[in-house]
Amino acid sequence: MKSQAQVVVIGGGVVGASVAYHLTKGGWRDVVLVERAELTSGSTWHAAGGMHTLNGDPNVAKLQQYTIDLYKEIEAISGVSCGMHVTGGLNLAGTKERLDWLKMAKARGRYLGMNLEIISIDEAAKMYPFIEKKHFVGAMFDPVEGHLDPWGVTQAYAKCAQMGGAEIVRFNRVVDLQPRPDGSWDVITEKGNIHAEHVVNAGGLWAREVGRMVGLELPILAMEHHYLITEDLPEVIDSNVDKFHVIDFEGEIYMRQERGGMLIGTYEQACVPWSERETPWDFGQNLLPNDLERIAPSLETAFQHFPALAKAGIRKTINGPFTFAPDGNPLIGPVKGLKNFWVACGVMAGFSQGGGVGLALANWMIEGDPGYDVWGMDVARFGDWATLAYTNAKVRENYSRRFRIRFPNEELPAARPLRTTAIYDQLVADNAVMGESCGLEHPLWFAPKGTEPVENVTFRRSNAFDHVGAECRAVRQGVGVTEISNYGKIEIEGPKAVEFLSRVMAGRIPAVGRLSLSPMLNEKGKLIGDFTLSRHAPDKFLLICSLSAESYYLRWFEKHAQPGVTFRGASMDYPGLSVAGPKSRALMQSLVRGDLSNEAFPFQTFRRLDIGMIPALVGRVSFTGELGYEIWVRPEYQRALHTTLTQTGAPLGLKPFGLRALLAMRLEKSFGTWAREYRPIYGPYEAGLGRFVDLKRGGFVGVDAAAAEKADGAKMRLTSFAVEASDADAIGDEPIWRDGKVVGWVTSGGYGHMVGHSLAMGYVEREYAEADAFEIEIIGERRPARRLAAPAYDPEGLRMRS
Ligand SMILES: Cc1cc2nc3c(=O)[nH]c(=O)nc-3n(C[C@H](O)[C@H](O)[C@H](O)COP(=O)(O)OP(=O)(O)OC[C@H]3O[C@@H](n4cnc5c(N)ncnc54)[C@H](O)[C@@H]3O)c2cc1C
Repeated sequence: MKSQAQVVVIGGGVVGASVAYHLTKGGWRDVVLVERAELTSGSTWHAAGGMHTLNGDPNVAKLQQYTIDLYKEIEAISGVSCGMHVTGGLNLAGTKERLDWLKMAKARGRYLGMNLEIISIDEAAKMYPFIEKKHFVGAMFDPVEGHLDPWGVTQAYAKCAQMGGAEIVRFNRVVDLQPRPDGSWDVITEKGNIHAEHVVNAGGLWAREVGRMVGLELPILAMEHHYLITEDLPEVIDSNVDKFHVIDFEGEIYMRQERGGMLIGTYEQACVPWSERETPWDFGQNLLPNDLERIAPSLETAFQHFPALAKAGIRKTINGPFTFAPDGNPLIGPVKGLKNFWVACGVMAGFSQGGGVGLALANWMIEGDPGYDVWGMDVARFGDWATLAYTNAKVRENYSRRFRIRFPNEELPAARPLRTTAIYDQLVADNAVMGESCGLEHPLWFAPKGTEPVENVTFRRSNAFDHVGAECRAVRQGVGVTEISNYGKIEIEGPKAVEFLSRVMAGRIPAVGRLSLSPMLNEKGKLIGDFTLSRHAPDKFLLICSLSAESYYLRWFEKHAQPGVTFRGASMDYPGLSVAGPKSRALMQSLVRGDLSNEAFPFQTFRRLDIGMIPALVGRVSFTGELGYEIWVRPEYQRALHTTLTQTGAPLGLKPFGLRALLAMRLEKSFGTWAREYRPIYGPYEAGLGRFVDLKRGGFVGVDAAAAEKADGAKMRLTSFAVEASDADAIGDEPIWRDGKVVGWVTSGGYGHMVGHSLAMGYVEREYAEADAFEIEIIGERRPARRLAAPAYDPEGLRMRS
C-alpha cells in the first residue's frame, strides 16, 4: 500500500468505486481506495439493483440518466459485466392525483430528452397482464428502466479505476483521520498510514463514523428495507409476457422479474431505522432478521393489485439497511470548516445515482466545480440544526412517504416545530398556517379567525387562494407586516471587508448607509448566489441571502478568505419583520424620530434606527415591490417589535401576510429567487441580472466569463409570462412550448392577485427571447402563455421608489 497519495477514497461500495473511477478518468492517477472488507461490504451487495431516471428534481434526473448510460462504458473498459437488463418501466397510477403527477413527470422529461409516455390502464394491462385493472386509472411508460447486478457494477467501476492508475486496498479499515496544518490528511489505517492531500468519505453505512473521525455529525440514518423473491410463476416463465420494472405508487410496491419469479419490494409504513446512533464495525455482508408482519399490509395490497402473485410461494426474503439524508437526496461536496475533506454519502439509490455522484464529485475536486447543478445534493444544504434526532424523524417520514405524492403546497409534519422565533406563538394565535424551511417555522398565510388554519394539499389552487389574494390586496392598497426571519444573514466585518466583497461579489459595493443587490459568480461566471449587501459602517456589512444557502455561501467565503476580514453566519441573530405597502411610511414614521421622507430615507437606504424602544437595522426595500422596510433586530427585541408594529399599525389597517402572498407579489414584479430562477447553471445575463454586474470595476471571481457571456449573448433568457390557466397555475419545471417544440422550462409560477391572472417565470432559448406567444404545459394541458416584456405590476418600479 502506498504511504502517500493525492486522494484516499474511504469505502468500496458502488459510490466509492464510482468516485475512484471518475477521479482517474478526470486525470488524477494517484488515487487510493481503502475498503475495510471485500468491495460492496455495506448496502451495496444486497441491493435489488433497480435503476430509473425519474426524479422530482430535473437536475438529479439528468445525473441519473448519465449513470444509466455509463454502464455500457464501464463494461466495455473493464470487461466486467454489469448484468444490465433494460426492461422499461411501468409506473402505475391508482388515483387521479397520481395520474396528474405522472403527467407532470412526463412533461418535465420533455426538456431532459426523456421519452416518457402516458398510457391507459388497458394498454398497461396488455403489456403486463398481472394487473387487476380496477385498482388503477392510468400509467406512464419509461423505456429507460431496469435492473443490474450490484456486485458486477461495483467491480466494473473498481477495475476501471485500477486501469486508470488507482490502487484498491481491501480488508483494511480506516480507523482515524488527522489533519495537518497545510490542509492535507494523515489517513490512519489498520495496515499503516497514508498521507493524502484529499480525503473522500464514501463510507455508506459507516459514513457517520467516518465523519465523526473529523468532528462531523452527518445527517444520515440507515433504514431497514425488505424485498422478497417469489417462486417461479408460469406467467413469468411464459415468454409472451414482458417483464417490466413496475411501480405501484398507491400500493407502495416496486417489482421486477428475478429469474422465473418476481422480486417485490416495499417502503413499508411501519418503517424501522437501523443502528440509530452507531453502525457496528462487525456488520458486513450480513442481512437483518425478516419481519414479514411489517410488510404484510403492503403484500396484501400487492396480491389484490396483482392477483397472480398471490399464487406463488416466497423463495427468499431480504432485509438490509441503507442510508438516507433527511430529504432523501445524496450528500456530496466539500465540507465547510474542513480543508480537502469531501463527502459522497447518503446515496439511497446507488444504481440510479452512483455514476452522477462520482462524476460531479470528481469534477468538483479536479476542476473546483461539479460541472452540474448539484444544489439538491450539496451537503451544504444542511446545517447544525439537522441533528441526529431531527434526521431520525425526517428520514422515517421520508422513507414511509417514498411513494407518496408531495404536493407543491404540502408541509410535512415530522420534526416540527424545531426552530421558532420569539413571535411564533403570536403568529399561531393569529391563525397563521405555518410552513417550515431549514427546520425554521414561518407563516405561509393567515386563515380567517374561527376557521381551522389548514390548507388542503393539491396541484391546483387551494383553499388558501382567496385569503392569499386578500393579503396581497391589503399590502398593495394599504400596509401589511410579515415575518422575514427565514431570510439568511451573514455578517462581514474588518478593514479588508470591502476588498473581500469586491472579489467575491460581482455587483457594486454600496456606500455606508446604503444597500445594493449583487450576484455572486463562480470562476465559470455562473450564478452561485444573489445577495443584498447592506452596509451600516465603513467596515461592517450585513448580507441578506437565502437561508437554505447560508452554509453554501460560507463555504465559498472560506475558500476566498483573506486576513483582515471575518465572516459569520448570523441568520438567527437577526430575526426580522417587514412592513410593506403605500401606508408603510406613515406607520414607520409614527415610530421613528428621524425623517423618513423619500428625500431623507430613499429607496435602498440601510441604517441603524430606533423603532419605538427597539434598536434595529432598517433597509428601505421590499420583495413585494411596494414601498417597504425590512427591519432586523436582535432576537430579544423581535417580540416587542411585532407588538409595537401591530398595535401602531392597527389604525392604518395593518394586516399580517405570509410567504405565499410575498411570493405571489414578487412574481408580479418578476423578481427571481435563489434555487428557482437563480442557480449555478445560469449566467447573470441569462438570469436578467446583468445590470447588477459591475464589469467596469472588474477584479471579481468570474469576471472574464461574465464579460464573455455579455459579449456572446446569453444562451437562455429568463422570461415572465401571463398564462391562461384555469384552476391550476404553473409551479415550476413545466415545459415551455412554441410552435410545437419545447423551447424552455418554468422556474416558478403562481397567481398574480393584483393583476388578476396567472403568472410564470422561466428560461427560454435566446432565439425566442423576443417572441410573444408560447404555451406552458400545466398538468398535461398546454396553456397559452404571453411573454411579458416588463413586470406585470408597476413595470417602472415607481411604487418601491415612492
Ligand atoms: C434491501 C435493499 C435494496 C436496495 N435496492 C436498491 C435498488 O433497487 N436500486 C438502487 O439504486 N439502490 C438500492 N438500494 C440502495 C443501495 O444499496 C445504496 O444506494 C448503495 O449501495 C449505497 O452505496 P455506498 O457505496 O454509498 O454505501 P455502502 O454500500 O454501504 O458502501 C460503503 C463501503 O464503505 C466501506 N467502509 C465504511 N467505512 C470504512 C472505513 N472506515 N474504512 C474502510 N472502508 C469503510 C464499507 O465496508 C462499505 O463497503 C438498496 C438497498 C437495500 C438495503
